[in-house]
Amino acid sequence: MKGLTIQIRKQKTESILRKHPWIFSGAIESETSQLVDGDIVTATDNRGNFLAIGHFQHATIALRVLSFENVNIDLDFFQRRIENAVELRRKLGLFETGNTICRLIHGEGDSLPGLIIDYYNGCAVIQCHSIGMYRSVDLISESLKKALKDDLKAVYSKSSDTLPQRSDVTDKYLFGSCETPHIAHEYGVKLNIDWINGQKTGFFIDQRENRALLGKYAKGKKILNTFCYSGGFSLSAIQNGATLVHSLDSSKKAIELTEQNVVLNGYGDRHVSIVADAMEYMKDLKEDYDIIVLDPPAFAKHRDKRHKAIQGYKRLNAHAIRQIKPGGLIFTFSCSQVVDKYLFNNTVIAAAIEAGRHVRIIEQLHQPGDHPINAFHPEGEYLKGLVIEVE
Ligand code: SAH
Repeated sequence: MKGLTIQIRKQKTESILRKHPWIFSGAIESETSQLVDGDIVTATDNRGNFLAIGHFQHATIALRVLSFENVNIDLDFFQRRIENAVELRRKLGLFETGNTICRLIHGEGDSLPGLIIDYYNGCAVIQCHSIGMYRSVDLISESLKKALKDDLKAVYSKSSDTLPQRSDVTDKYLFGSCETPHIAHEYGVKLNIDWINGQKTGFFIDQRENRALLGKYAKGKKILNTFCYSGGFSLSAIQNGATLVHSLDSSKKAIELTEQNVVLNGYGDRHVSIVADAMEYMKDLKEDYDIIVLDPPAFAKHRDKRHKAIQGYKRLNAHAIRQIKPGGLIFTFSCSQVVDKYLFNNTVIAAAIEAGRHVRIIEQLHQPGDHPINAFHPEGEYLKGLVIEVE
């Protein structure tokens, strides 16, 4: 095999043959000298047979596999992958009326590990989690133009948050430009999206269907939306007839975004915002709520923090279960990848036991189809939630 290669230990090829897209540093027997972060590198078995090609990095995940076939990683490669991803979103109906927001590329789920692309009404925001992907942003931008044609007006590259150790990473428009905040739509709700100053790419797209589901239960209800960010759940609830929504976040900036969105939709008379720490606020609720939304950030980013995270989820859920109105609903979520859905369910059940109230699970929630899970990469499943009814 010519070019840059790593040779994989004999007993470590199995997961690659099962098409798992990560090769860990411990699996490498030997490597071409002087591999640089971001290089496109071929993995072979100990006889030199091709196994996979991908982006190399001196890290625990040493190779993020782009293909299990011996192909060139060029414009044509990115174009095919991106066209395929756009096709899936069209199949899901995400380019139809009412919605101008979707995740276009979801890393491993779209066979492009290390790459996230979110789409906001004509503007694509690229976020890279590997140097190799960052080095390919121009090819990615070209491919987006070809795949989206008139549906694309601008491409913004934002990786300085996700690659903080690299001083050479800059955030900028690669194609066109777009004033921010930029208005985009989710099931008819208008949202100001600010990818330059906002968290992540500007919005938490993964909760779209769960926000819509809250809408189904919201009519005539008084709702508390904790960890609200820019107010997505609140807006869906008001759009669907909630009488009053309290939106809470510890970030003043997030609350400002929420208020801008409330005004943009003309929902001011049914909305109150609160800057507070959710855990503190939930200890002693001063109001009766019919519905409470709990959508905290990932409490555990690594396995060694899992135990503490579970205690956090349990405490938060116990506060809500204890104080919600009889017959009330709690929409509770976890986006910690290391807490799987079974552990999360058990944690919520433990919270119900602690709160001493009878609880029924009425909906089991997850990430939507534009955040697909590669079946050979179970780690791609991260968002889970429950709707529980409290007696
Ligand atoms: N539900 C939101 C996304 C939530 S992201 C949506 O639908 O868009 C998590 C949010 O939790 C962020 O806005 C962050 O500022 C906020 N947050 C983090 N820690 C918090 C805390 N201790 N109390 C309240 N909010 C917190």
